[in-house]
Amino acid sequence: MSVEHAHVARADFDQVMVPNYAPAGFIPVRGAGSRVWDQSGRELLDFAGGIAVNVLGHCHPALVAALTEQANSMWHISNVFTNEPALRLAHKLVDATFADRVFFCNSGAEANEAAFKLARRVAFDKFGEEKCEIIAATNSFHGRTLFTVSVGGQPKYSDGFGPKIQGITHVPYNDIEALKAAISDKTCAVVLEPIQGEGGVLPADLAYLQAARELCDKHNALLVFDEVQTGMGRSGELFAYMHYGVTPDILSSAKSLGGGFPIGAMLTTNELAKHLAVGTHGTTYGGNPLACAVGEAVIDIVNTPEVLAGVKAKSARFKAKLEQIGQQYGVFSEVRGLGLLLGCVLSEAWKGKAKTVLDAAAAEGLLVLQASPDVVRFAPSLVVEDSDIDEGLARFERAVAKLTQA
Ligand SMILES: *Cc1c(COP(=O)(O)O)cnc(C)c1O
Repeated sequence: MSVEHAHVARADFDQVMVPNYAPAGFIPVRGAGSRVWDQSGRELLDFAGGIAVNVLGHCHPALVAALTEQANSMWHISNVFTNEPALRLAHKLVDATFADRVFFCNSGAEANEAAFKLARRVAFDKFGEEKCEIIAATNSFHGRTLFTVSVGGQPKYSDGFGPKIQGITHVPYNDIEALKAAISDKTCAVVLEPIQGEGGVLPADLAYLQAARELCDKHNALLVFDEVQTGMGRSGELFAYMHYGVTPDILSSAKSLGGGFPIGAMLTTNELAKHLAVGTHGTTYGGNPLACAVGEAVIDIVNTPEVLAGVKAKSARFKAKLEQIGQQYGVFSEVRGLGLLLGCVLSEAWKGKAKTVLDAAAAEGLLVLQASPDVVRFAPSLVVEDSDIDEGLARFERAVAKLTQA
C-alpha cells in the first residue's frame, strides 16, 4: 500500500509556507533514537530533541506500539464522551504529582491559557473582579496565543498585535524584593518557569521559589509553574518543582509529555478545579485518545527510578565535557541548567552568536538549540546512549574548534 508522494525540497517552503519560521537548509525525513537522517541520507545526532520534546528520542518502540495500537481502535471521539487513554493518563499524572485533577489540551500555550483563565476565575469567584492581576517574569516564555504572549516577558513576541491582555506586571527573575514590591491583594497569580527555558536556560534560586510560595499564600494568590519545558523528567525529577520542593497550585505540561505527539495538560487541585465548571472552558481535540495513549507510554517509561537517575548521570557527563570545551576554546562563561536541559552561556567574545554555533554544529552532523542569542541549549533524549553523548560532543568540539580557528 505505498502512496506516491510528489518530491518536495526546502525551496518549496519559501513558496507555500507562511514565512514565520526560517528552517534549516536540509529536510530531516527519518529518526531513530538520538539520530536523524535528511533527504540526502546524511546522518545527524539530535541533541535538540524537537525543542525539548522528543523525550525518548525518535520512534521509541514503546511509543510507536502505543500509537499504533490506539490508531487501530479509536482516533477521536470528542469531549461529549470521555475515553480510556485520557482517564488512564490522568490517573497517572494525579498519582505522580501534587495534583488531583487534569485538563487536557494540545500544546503548551493552551495549557498555560487554561492555567491563567483558571487563576482569574478562582479569584473572580472568591474575591470579585478587582483581583485579576498576574505577575510574571521578565524574559519568561509561556507560548504564542495573545494571553500567553502578554504574560510572557518578551515584548518582541507581544508587540504589534493590538491591545494586549491587561492586568499583567513583569518583574526581574530571581529578584525576591521586586516580587515583594509588585505583589498585592489584587494579585490573582504569580507565574514562573522553575527554569527559564527560552529565556536562556536560567534556573530559579531555591530561595526565590520559596519566597514566591510564601508571598502567594500571604496575598491569596495562586502560584502557577509553567513546566512545559522543565517537566516530564527533563530536570532529573518528574517535574522540576519536585527538585525544589516548592509546590505550585497550578502546573502546565506539554512538550515532553507527548514525546513528539501533540498534547498539553493543566494540573491542579480539587479545590481549584471546581471553578472550571461545565461549559466554562474546553477544546475539541483535548484528551484525544491517540495523544493520551502516547502520553501514557511516555510517563510509564520516564517516571521510573532508572530513567530519572539516568538523566542525572547523563547530565553530569554532558556538563563535564561542555565545561572542558568552554574552557579550552574560551567560548562559554558558564554551563548551567538541570538534568538534560543545559545551557552554555557564550563568553563576552561570542555573545549574540548562538546561531553561528548552531550552524557550525549542524555542519559537523549535530543538532543543538539556542535559547536567546547568547546561550547554546542542549535538550537531548532522556535515554540517549552514553556513546551517542560522546560522539555528539566530539562533533560539537570539532565545530567549536573550527569556529575559533576561523
Ligand atoms: C514551549 C513552551 C511553551 C509553549 O508551548 P507550545 O506547545 O509551543 O504552545 C510554553 N511555556 C514554556 C516554558 C515553553 O518552553
